[in-house]
Amino acid sequence: MQNVKKRTGGQVIAQARDGVERRMLPGGRREGEQILAMMMEGTPIPTFVIDHQHRIICWNRAMEALTGITSRQIMVEGGAIPPDALYDEEKPNLANLLVNGAHGEIERLYNQRLKKSDVIEGAYEVTDFFPALGEEGKWLRCTAAILRWPGGDIFGAIQTLEDVTDRFETEENLRKGEALLSAVLRGSPIPTFVINTDHRVIYWNRALEELSQIRAADIIGTRHQWKAFYDYERPCMADILLDERRQDLRRWYFEKYTKSKLIDEAFEATDFFPALGDEGKWLRFTAAILRDSDGTILGAIETLEDVTARILAEEALRASEKKYRNLSITDGLTGLFNGRHFYSQLRVEMERATRYGHDLSLLFFDIDDFKQYNDTFGHLEGDKVLIRLAEVTRRCLRKTDSAYRFGGEEFTAILPETDAQAAVVIAERIRLEFREEKFSPGGGEAVQVTASIGIARYISDEPLTEILRRADMNMYQAKARGKDGVFFE
Ligand code: GH3
Ligand code: MG
Ligand code: MG
Repeated sequence: MQNVKKRTGGQVIAQARDGVERRMLPGGRREGEQILAMMMEGTPIPTFVIDHQHRIICWNRAMEALTGITSRQIMVEGGAIPPDALYDEEKPNLANLLVNGAHGEIERLYNQRLKKSDVIEGAYEVTDFFPALGEEGKWLRCTAAILRWPGGDIFGAIQTLEDVTDRFETEENLRKGEALLSAVLRGSPIPTFVINTDHRVIYWNRALEELSQIRAADIIGTRHQWKAFYDYERPCMADILLDERRQDLRRWYFEKYTKSKLIDEAFEATDFFPALGDEGKWLRFTAAILRDSDGTILGAIETLEDVTARILAEEALRASEKKYRNLSITDGLTGLFNGRHFYSQLRVEMERATRYGHDLSLLFFDIDDFKQYNDTFGHLEGDKVLIRLAEVTRRCLRKTDSAYRFGGEEFTAILPETDAQAAVVIAERIRLEFREEKFSPGGGEAVQVTASIGIARYISDEPLTEILRRADMNMYQAKARGKDGVFFE
């Protein structure tokens, strides 16, 4: 800096004014110009001034520091910037172009980064790279403005330069980072969208285009994200999180949402979307707030996962499990529950009756003279009778009752919350309806088949074998009293 200080821009100005008769100060310049030169020297902003003949008449110390070019060198060059000092190629400065009124040329040379100054009319701003500066070149923000005499004639132009290399590189890296991020999102197989704080879509990736059948070009910039999932306007999960209105999650997703275990401030839910695909889709979606390093909310991201195949597989598994479970408790011939299920259900109902002090009754029935029927018409005709008795029984029972094929031609029914009197009524109904059934084995004459039914009422805390024994005993009592009857004692 010491060296730089010793050199002054004064000589440059003096040279630029050569040939003009004016009252000169001891420094060789007019008073106004000297004050101007002093001000320029004092400002930390790299600045130079050219006259209307493009000669540099001021090149301040900040400019010297920035460029490494001294005002003395400028003077040696006859008031011009040494070639190759700023640019590798020959490129006119903004200030030179302004003096020439070459606005078209300005646009052509600098168009990408050119900006008309907000502050000074007729001034331009441009951020440009100067490869010859510093070790690796510098990004400079240049502002140039025309200088006019009071009468309006052009005196020259002033240009200031600001080293924005650091800022520019940070921004450039940020831009590259954003481009990278957007490329990653675009390429991601996970359907994803991002909204800004205004709820407008700013990303809508390829995978989501595929899922929603809505093109990014049609939705970016809009608030139509709901259209991908719903046929009416409503907030998506990302919208709700963005507004920091978590209480609305319940309103829109009921019990279906949970807080993400993986990501802070993220929520997820799985739901069925009837409008998607041919037959609707199950989607698992996760939404999260996006914040910058200061915690300021930038927007929200929502990713979606098509879990239709998984959910359908789970449903199929559940259905087949249920089918298997049903098979294991169902009698194949009659469709009634089997004997094994009878024991487990009777145990459950006995416990319940004990606990609540409710009534519980049991029916035990057996087809009359069935051996003979089988012997006469064959086993297959006998099976038809068993099937018919099951149908009659089902028809005559109430919703809470259950019927079982206990084994062979013996059936049972559990009647919860039913006393003996009511059980007799139901048993009678079964007996009467069954004897009305018409059987024409082998296409021959109608044959009547009857059954005998024994009833037992549960006595609190008695063992299972006891109630079964009583029911069986009463059934035999009905047989003993002439069959086709109901017995309770
Ligand atoms: P009772 O009136 O005393 O009950 O006389 P019954 O002939 O029915 O006497 P029993 O209980 O000894 O006869 C049971 C008969 O039921 C024997 C068998 O032929 C028939 N049976 C048992 N299981 C089946 C079956 O699954 N299908 C058919 N068709 N018949 C069966
Ligand atoms: Mg029998
Ligand atoms: Mg029998």
